[in-house]
Amino acid sequence: ISRINRRIEKGKRWFSCEFFPPRTASGAVNLLSKFDRFAKGRPLFCDVTWHPAGNPMSDAPTSSIMVASAMLNYSGIDTMLHVTCVGLPEERMTAALERAKGLGLKNILALRGDLPEAPEDGAGGSGDVNNGDLLGDFKYAVDLVRFIRKRYGSFFNICVAGYPTGHPEASSYADDLLRLKEKVDAGADFIITQLFFEADTFLKFQSDCRQLGIRCPIIPGVLPIQAYQSLRHIVKLSKLAVPDEIIRTIEPIKENDEAIRNYGIFQCTQLCRKLLESGEVHGIHFYTLNREVATIEILRNIGLWHEDLPRPLPWKHSANHERCG
Ligand code: FAD
Repeated sequence: ISRINRRIEKGKRWFSCEFFPPRTASGAVNLLSKFDRFAKGRPLFCDVTWHPAGNPMSDAPTSSIMVASAMLNYSGIDTMLHVTCVGLPEERMTAALERAKGLGLKNILALRGDLPEAPEDGAGGSGDVNNGDLLGDFKYAVDLVRFIRKRYGSFFNICVAGYPTGHPEASSYADDLLRLKEKVDAGADFIITQLFFEADTFLKFQSDCRQLGIRCPIIPGVLPIQAYQSLRHIVKLSKLAVPDEIIRTIEPIKENDEAIRNYGIFQCTQLCRKLLESGEVHGIHFYTLNREVATIEILRNIGLWHEDLPRPLPWKHSANHERCG
């Protein structure tokens, strides 16, 4: 188990997958079987999202840490834990990071998170980043990157989020790129992008980042469309525009789940092929929504699913670790 950015070798193709923590016990059992299934395809890493659910004091982040620990320690998959910082006081952030460290997690996706909803009287909340009470000790993701580097040196491998069409709250695309560079300059090792629907959107973004002097790996995040309602929900939350061509295709088949799924596999396969054929992309990150069928089929279509390769046996792994000290 190692730091992700050191395993991103130029020229070698790979994939990674995102999961969210389940809400029920049966969901947890189900997810463990998915980790087993995905482990067979040999992802470079998998990651677990973080959900403070509007209440940073809730124990939701605990479930994220436990799921990430199961992924790493039970399934043997290199794991990255998402952590959002908005609303969290420093001591709670330290407690969460200590817990992650103690469980062997070494890769963190450092995020700001979405701003808390405005209270009834209209003060603070979304868009009002000056309301210190609501925001806790961290205002932006860059503050979390700085905090982790200051407190933990190079112990954690740090990833940050990038937005190929600009973050919806940013004053402009150009300004958002500068903010991204700040996160990298503060110590981030690599970037995963928000989902996008067209290869050119990512390729332009990557080229703009390079022009600005961002040198670290930039990993495109893609979403296989798996259901009409979930697509609507995700694009609403992320404030993304869906290309007309996709809307024209899915509107007439929106009641037919199977047709939507098949189209999603087709559309995402085409997108991934274009990215890989550009020669500018070697690894692709999948937003799985905790489902396996579509992502695995797309990975097979693009030749990134390597189930037939023998996996190193877990005891061989630990024996090597012991030998190396
Ligand atoms: P930041 O990088 O802090 O940027 C937020 C906004 O502030 C941007 O508009 C930026 O341009 C602006 N900004 C940054 N610095 C400054 C500055 N110094 N001055 C002025 N403006 C500034 N959310 C979750 O709750 N849980 C998750 O697990 C999760 N996982 C995600 C994974 C990925 C790959 C992505 C792309 C997003 C994820 N999100 C998650 C959503 C994310 O929390 C939101 O998009 C959030 O609104 C912004 O987070 P950020 O880390 O990009 O913020």
